[in-house]
Amino acid sequence: MIQSIWELFNKEELFECYQCARCTGSCPAAMVLNSYGPRETLLRCLNLGQEAVITDERVWYCTTCHVCEDRCPQEINISELLTAIFNLAAQRGNLPEKVKFGVDLIAKTGRSLIVNEKVLRDRQKLSLPDLPPLDLDEIEGILKKTGLLEILEPA
Ligand code: SF4
Ligand code: SF4
Repeated sequence: MIQSIWELFNKEELFECYQCARCTGSCPAAMVLNSYGPRETLLRCLNLGQEAVITDERVWYCTTCHVCEDRCPQEINISELLTAIFNLAAQRGNLPEKVKFGVDLIAKTGRSLIVNEKVLRDRQKLSLPDLPPLDLDEIEGILKKTGLLEILEPA
């Protein structure tokens, strides 16, 4: 687990951002939530430091669509920056209930969606194949290795 975004980025790299705002202009989250934007997140990292960003609940507005990175003329690796921010925010306890629910579901069922009788019936009607069994031990191992299990079930 990383302890700081500065293990992955150096400030000089992020200062290559010249604040054109193409990233925020293309961001689906920013289109519906005025107070959010990848440009603004990057700027807060540089001006206020990582603590201000990872404790802000707005970091979770990002849908990880990667459009910001595709549109950046400076080829700044914004998605990786946002992923590092997610990881640090989660370690710090800034983890929305919906994300906790999703991870818990994966831990318990191996799937990110609820598969109930209706889903199974619908799959049959559509002639879709049976869902394969999943190795929950392997999934638990991944969650342990990434530290997610500890975040969900603190000792
Ligand atoms: S990855 Fe996140 S910040 Fe970037 S465009 Fe998509 S929603 Fe916006
Ligand atoms: S698109 Fe790139 S250069 Fe422009 S504001 Fe966003 S991060 Fe900065």
